Amino acid sequence: MKRTLILLTIIFVIAFGLYSLSNSRTFQLFGDIVHRVETNDKVVALTFDDGPWNKQLPDDVLAILDKHNVKGTFYLNGRGIRDNMRTTQKIVAKGHEIGNHGFTHKRLVFKSINTIEREITETSHLIRETGYRGKMTFRPPYFKKLFVLPYYLNKHDIVTVTGDVEADNDLFATSDDIVNSVLT
Ligand SMILES: [Zn+2]
Repeated sequence: MKRTLILLTIIFVIAFGLYSLSNSRTFQLFGDIVHRVETNDKVVALTFDDGPWNKQLPDDVLAILDKHNVKGTFYLNGRGIRDNMRTTQKIVAKGHEIGNHGFTHKRLVFKSINTIEREITETSHLIRETGYRGKMTFRPPYFKKLFVLPYYLNKHDIVTVTGDVEADNDLFATSDDIVNSVLT
């Protein structure tokens, strides 16, 4: 009985440790991970994740960024790029930075190195097909990573980028909700 309890405790501690490691935005076992950049300037780096899944959303976002002469980084998925090549090219043409966010947006935890390689290289390939020539970093889907993903990225000199402030992700969030969540 006592032994079972100890064993269960050990399993729980290991599981919790792995869970925390997979969710950490500031630490991974291999390679560089960037969650913020220290500077005295009052600046933020704006990043936009996923897709592009439809044409309207990037158009709206691009128009606002243009209006304020602001550049952002778009972490895109290979499947979205493949299905919306013209939309992606528009983002590239506006001079924004493009990052790799995996092909299917599945969690890249407990996956084989072959799956991870496919998710990354097919997406990189599509990004380059848009004409984008800039630097390309990687943002893990759901910010999840454990062993193989950081190992692969580090081996290929790809920097992992997470973040330290996340906007209200609720689909029904208003502009005010988003501003409030970010400022908080
Ligand atoms: Zn995402």
